[in-house]
Amino acid sequence: MANPVLPSSGVLSPLGLDSVRVLPGFWGDRVVLNNEVTIAHCQEWQEREGWIGNFRGERPRRGREFSDSEIYKLLEAMAWADHPGLPALAEVVAQAQEGDGYLNTRWSGSRYTDFEWGHELYCYGHLIQAGVARLRMHGEDQLTRVVTRAADHVCRRFMDTDETCGHPVIEMALVELYRATGTERYLEMARRFVERRGLPALADIPFGRGYYQDDVPVRQAQVFRGHVVRALYLASGVVDVAVETGDQELLKAVESQWERTVARRTHLTGGMGSRHADESYGEDYELPPDRAYNETCASIASIMLAHRLLLATGDARYADLAERTMYNMLATGVALDGKSFFYVNPLQVRVPATPLDGVNHAAEGGLRSPWFDVSCCPNNIARTLASLPAYVAAAKDGGVLIHHLTPAEIRSGRLALRVETGYPWQGSVSVRVLEDGEGRIGLRVPAWATDATLAHVPVSAPDAPLPEGPVIRPVSPGYAYVEGPWRAGDEIRLELPMRPRWTVPDRRIDALRGSAAVERGPLVYCAESVADEPPLAGVTARVDPPVEHETDGVVELEVGARLASGGNGSWPYAAARAPEEGADVRLRLVPYHRWGNRGPATMRVWLPTI
Ligand SMILES: [Zn+2]
Repeated sequence: MANPVLPSSGVLSPLGLDSVRVLPGFWGDRVVLNNEVTIAHCQEWQEREGWIGNFRGERPRRGREFSDSEIYKLLEAMAWADHPGLPALAEVVAQAQEGDGYLNTRWSGSRYTDFEWGHELYCYGHLIQAGVARLRMHGEDQLTRVVTRAADHVCRRFMDTDETCGHPVIEMALVELYRATGTERYLEMARRFVERRGLPALADIPFGRGYYQDDVPVRQAQVFRGHVVRALYLASGVVDVAVETGDQELLKAVESQWERTVARRTHLTGGMGSRHADESYGEDYELPPDRAYNETCASIASIMLAHRLLLATGDARYADLAERTMYNMLATGVALDGKSFFYVNPLQVRVPATPLDGVNHAAEGGLRSPWFDVSCCPNNIARTLASLPAYVAAAKDGGVLIHHLTPAEIRSGRLALRVETGYPWQGSVSVRVLEDGEGRIGLRVPAWATDATLAHVPVSAPDAPLPEGPVIRPVSPGYAYVEGPWRAGDEIRLELPMRPRWTVPDRRIDALRGSAAVERGPLVYCAESVADEPPLAGVTARVDPPVEHETDGVVELEVGARLASGGNGSWPYAAARAPEEGADVRLRLVPYHRWGNRGPATMRVWLPTI
């Protein structure tokens, strides 16, 4: 099964790239662009920056101490995309592997001398994930042999120590290698890495041990904290270990940490991370729009975790968060041409960015960049989009559950289905049965779709006197089901309400008080101001129904607003609020994932309201 996550038990069984083919549409177009443009872009830059040369022994070594992991993420993307360049790149990587399986271009000669920052096990984690992808898409080859040698080396070296890595990811990688090969020591090694973290296993650092989730054992933690990518990769590995060992207590621990994190530490876009200094979560309700960090990798890690929890429990709220994050973070992270990327994703940008041609050394800024000194995000996007079909649907009790409403062809058990939809721009979703079959079909109704309807339109029997009419019924958020058996030509039609809606924040999110944002379907919208358009600093919006404008299939919105004209005083505080003055204007709102594609701009999602 061609799937990045393949648990041996759970409420749902994932359907992989061999069962789900995405067709032209919002995600299908992005998968094609990724596989044809972004993967090549990432390889070119890694060659140019010398990160691939490191494996050839070129000196001086270039890139950060973890740059090997970027080549591995690229290899994973290539494996899912069945990219012809994979064998040659795998050959380069294989050259650098030492006789006992050790593989790292930075630490060769001074192995395992810095667990806090060395990232050696982190790099193996990404290498192993690439190997699992290759094994499942293609079968054994040079890359998979490199990977099993490396994993065996890790088990020999770390099984009976109390050490672990400052950056989790090897946990979920080892569980997946166990799932792909049946070799139990990989699962046991992953389990031990999970259990020893927080005892503590690592040295204290200025950010504190919470930075790498080594402050308390994972079973005792109440919420995700510290560096967001670390926290979510770890949690993904913990779910994998819990599922494979049948450890319900461990699974419940992650579920409750996820719940609190989503309720108190998550931005409207699904992004996570409020502090720039250590790329970390803030405290509960610390969600400033302008200082939001929201690393693109953190959103990918959140999608990975939500997908695992969805498979383990079948609970639609995990798919809801994954969808929110996919449309508003993953799709935002890469430009419409597939060649530039956001690293941080704030919800407000006050000053237009200065365009850069080359490497963005800061990872910040309001324009997508072709490359970064730390280019985790571009490669992470590449591997995620390459494997995206595997997130779309799952099998359950001989039927199919469709989590993500995107044009696709899905085959599982005795069901062959074709999904057609203009979602997320339009709310009609058609699922057509391609062959006679059996099994229950479930479609996810997103949490915001409170007045959706479902129609079952059976194909007419050849000798029926009159065609059977559709049965239309209201459906609630969650999964809406229609039972089989099916005849080729039968259709299910889901209608989701796509009216734009105003959303207000919890009062405890101080930074957002008195403001509101507009959403439509799964998309978060933002005001964007380029070049000579009016600035957004003094804007106040009217909470009236937004007006829709559709251009080239993209829905933009317009709301009434007032632009403050004041602000030239010598002191920005006073005993009483000044009367609101300014010009009434119409404010254009664009989908957040499309912002920054028209050049340097200011932007804001949350609008103070009149
Ligand atoms: Zn990143």
